[in-house]
Amino acid sequence: MAFEFRLTPEQRLLRRSARAFMRTEIEPHLPADDWTGHGGDSPLHLVRKMQDQGYFGMPVPRELDGAGMGEVGYCLVFEEIAAVDSSIATIFGAHTGIGLAPIYLFGNEEQRERYVRPIAQGRHLAAFALTEPTAGSDAASIKTKAEKDADGYRIDGTKIWCSNGNFADTTVVFAVTDETLGAHGGVTAFLVEKDTDGFQVGTIEDKLGIRQSNTAELVFEDCWVPKENVLGNVGEGFIVALTALDGGRVGLGAATLGATKRLLSDCVHRVNAREREGRPVGQNQSVQWMLADMATDIHLAEYAVYHAAELTNQYYERIAEGEPVSRSLREQVSRAAAVVKIHCSEMSGRAGESAIRIYGGDGLRWRYGVERAFRDQVITEIYEGTNEIQRMIIARELLQGVGVDQ
Ligand SMILES: Cc1cc2nc3c(=O)[nH]c(=O)nc-3n(C[C@H](O)[C@H](O)[C@H](O)COP(=O)(O)OP(=O)(O)OC[C@H]3O[C@@H](n4cnc5c(N)ncnc54)[C@H](O)[C@@H]3O)c2cc1C
Repeated sequence: MAFEFRLTPEQRLLRRSARAFMRTEIEPHLPADDWTGHGGDSPLHLVRKMQDQGYFGMPVPRELDGAGMGEVGYCLVFEEIAAVDSSIATIFGAHTGIGLAPIYLFGNEEQRERYVRPIAQGRHLAAFALTEPTAGSDAASIKTKAEKDADGYRIDGTKIWCSNGNFADTTVVFAVTDETLGAHGGVTAFLVEKDTDGFQVGTIEDKLGIRQSNTAELVFEDCWVPKENVLGNVGEGFIVALTALDGGRVGLGAATLGATKRLLSDCVHRVNAREREGRPVGQNQSVQWMLADMATDIHLAEYAVYHAAELTNQYYERIAEGEPVSRSLREQVSRAAAVVKIHCSEMSGRAGESAIRIYGGDGLRWRYGVERAFRDQVITEIYEGTNEIQRMIIARELLQGVGVDQ
């Protein structure tokens, strides 16, 4: 496969300015620790500052008031956000990668005006609600129902683990519209606005990591939405979900890349400054090897993420323009996204463990941030499709001959 990837001057400028903004305008104002408060305390005042910079409409074209920087721009900014805070990065990813993307990709002209434009302008936030108490990895078995009446649909059911769910202005909700057809043909995506009657926020999870990203239960009881709020075609909701999750996983790879680069940089400073037996601990080969392994993982991740981002960009541009998408492009994107998801999340797991060892006892003290990085990365192996499910995607294609003998 011939592949050459270089950032454009505009993309390089975006990366530099996002880094400067995150390090000077956001990082100094982050809560000192993430233990106080048990959910419900997402730093939305900082998110607002980032929305004002246009970050929350990064891939949306300029005609719709977005930044027009595509999937590569989205990943560059995601890296810089995650290098500073994984909770805010999750808010950003849930909003952009799986909340906004499907609305932009599958929305009609009216929906783009009504929902995408205010999101791109930084006035609204988005969320994605697929998972249910009895349907996680097996998303095809969701039970939330949407029954048609004359002018719309009545949604009934419960979603769980919805990132941004308690404050999003618009949530993409997946529900069964025809039980006889199964996931492919029987599931439809709906746009649900936050103050819709019959839509309530339930429990906010108190969790191990990314504690300042809210994850909410959403309850729908006789929640009526007009038929204009169907996103994409009736019965094609599963395609909407899977398409968004592909791009979401690539973004997630960028986030773990940014967080791991930051961890490596912190570790290097630490081992140069910390002395034992009269010399910096970085002089020990045992420490050097851990640093070298982190750098090796990062190097490979960088290529994988931006290759996948560029491919996803081509894929999304075609969908957004209503052009036909070849099966081969769709398969390449799914596979690249699965590879990125596995490599990057497991890279950050290895790096988190190494960083704690490198810091010694201080690795367990919350004020050094290393234990938090360790806790924050755990979820990256689970959400947007567990790594086991990603391995199944790759293996299924391999067994069909896709990607073999290239
Ligand atoms: C913090 C957080 C934020 C989230 N945000 C969102 C969100 O914004 N929107 C949303 O819709 N969802 C969200 N999720 C849900 C997330 O996508 C699911 O948790 C994830 O898909 C796994 O589903 P599950 O938790 O039900 O695990 P399960 O499906 O119960 O899986 C349990 C274990 O079994 C394995 N397993 C299951 N089925 C198979 C199989 N067929 N083959 C091999 N192994 C299998 C899994 O890999 C895993 O190891 C979030 C979750 C968390 C924790």
